Amino acid sequence: MAKFMITEEKAFELVSKYGSPLYVYDEEILRERCRELINLVAFENYRVNYSAKANTNLEILKIIREEGLDVDAMSPGEIIIEEKAGFSPDRIFYICNNVSAEEMMFAIERGITVSVDSLSQLDLFGRINPGGEIAVRFNPGVGVGHHEMVNTGGRKTKFGVEKSFITEVKKLLTKHRLTLVGINQHMGSLFLDGQKYIEGVRNLFEIAKEFEGLDYIDIGGGFGIPYQPDEKRLDLEELGRNLTQVFSEFLEEYGNKDVILKVEPGRYIVAECGILLGTVYSTKENYGIKYVGTDLGFNVLMRPVLYDSYHEIRVLKHPDNPVDNERKETVNVVGNICETGDILAKGRELPVINEGDLLSVMDAGAYGFVMSSNYNCRLRPAEVLVDRKGNDRLIRKREIYDDLLRHFILGD
Ligand SMILES: *Cc1c(COP(=O)(O)O)cnc(C)c1O
Repeated sequence: MAKFMITEEKAFELVSKYGSPLYVYDEEILRERCRELINLVAFENYRVNYSAKANTNLEILKIIREEGLDVDAMSPGEIIIEEKAGFSPDRIFYICNNVSAEEMMFAIERGITVSVDSLSQLDLFGRINPGGEIAVRFNPGVGVGHHEMVNTGGRKTKFGVEKSFITEVKKLLTKHRLTLVGINQHMGSLFLDGQKYIEGVRNLFEIAKEFEGLDYIDIGGGFGIPYQPDEKRLDLEELGRNLTQVFSEFLEEYGNKDVILKVEPGRYIVAECGILLGTVYSTKENYGIKYVGTDLGFNVLMRPVLYDSYHEIRVLKHPDNPVDNERKETVNVVGNICETGDILAKGRELPVINEGDLLSVMDAGAYGFVMSSNYNCRLRPAEVLVDRKGNDRLIRKREIYDDLLRHFILGD
C-alpha cells in the first residue's frame, strides 16, 4: 500500500460532505511511514524527529507522536501546535535560523533545545542564556535535493555554519560557558539516491569528532518519495545498512558511545498518505491548447508553481459522465486564480475529462496544506482523515468568509 488510492464513490461522498477542494489523509499509510523510519536502523540510540513544517495538522501530529517519533520545530508557532499535540519539551527540537532573542527565549523558557545556524546567532544565544545547552547546525558543503530551491546543504545556501569556523564555534561556547549537546545538518529535500546522503553524513561525523561528549548527532531529513509514476522508490533497506555501517565506524572512534543518531524527515512521513481532491468546472481549448479548469489553484497547492513539481493526477469520473478508457488527451490542468502561472500540470496526458469530474492530486500530504494561502481571497480547504476502518473525520474546518474579515479594523 504505497499511496493513498481513493475510490470514486468515496471521493464524491467526501466532497459532497466537506466541500471542494479537500485534503484527505489516510491514517494507515501515515502510520506505516512512521514505522518504516523508526525501523531504519537497529541502534538503540536512534531517534526520528518528524520535521513538522511538512504538515502541521494537529491530528496528524498526534498520530505521529503515538507512533513514537519526536518533532522538529522551525518557529514558535510550530512549537505551540506541537505542545497542543502532546509533545513534551524534551521531544521538541527548535531548529531556527535568523531569529530574534525573543524567539530564542520562547524555546529556552520551555526547556526546548535550540539549534543555531550562524556564529552571530550562537553569540546571541550565549548572551541571553549563558551556561545553557545548545546545538549547532553545520553545513559541511554537500547538498542534495530535487531543485535548487530545496537544496539546503550546499556551498551556496544560507544554512548552517561552515566547517572552517569550528574554532570560532568553540571560542563562543567557551566565552558563554555553553554546553554543546548536539550538532545537526540538513542537506536538502527529496533525495532518492542514498549514496550522496551517506557522503554528507560522513562529513558531519568528521565535524562531530571535533567536539567531545555530544549527546546526539542529527543527520537531517530529505528522504524522497517517487512523485513520478516511473520513479524508483528510495531503497530504505540499503540506506539503513549504509547508515548502520558509517555510524558504527564513527562510534568506534568517538568518545561517547551513547551518542544518539537522529534523522529529521518531513516529506517521507506525510506526503503519500495525503491527496488533494478538486472539481472540474470547465474545459476549453485556447489556440490549440486544451485546458481543464478546476478549483485547484496555487492558493491550495503551491508546489507545482514554486518548484515546478510534478504531482500525479488521477481522474475520478462523475457517474453521469461518459467513460472512454481508450482515449487520452494532452491538457493543461489549471486553477481558478487570476494568474497565468496558475498551472497544476502542464502538457499532461490524462483520460478524457468532463465538467463535474473530480481530480485526485497524489502525494499532497507534505508541503500541501501548510503552504496554502488566501490569495484572491479564497478560503483554505478542509482537511479530513480516513481511519483504518475507512471512516472519515474532519480534522480541520474549511475556512469561512468571516476568516477573511477577522483581522481588519472594522468600523460601523
Ligand atoms: C524542511 C526540513 C527538514 C525536512 O525535510 P524533508 O525533505 O521534508 O524531509 C528537515 N530538517 C530541516 C532543518 C528542515 O528545514
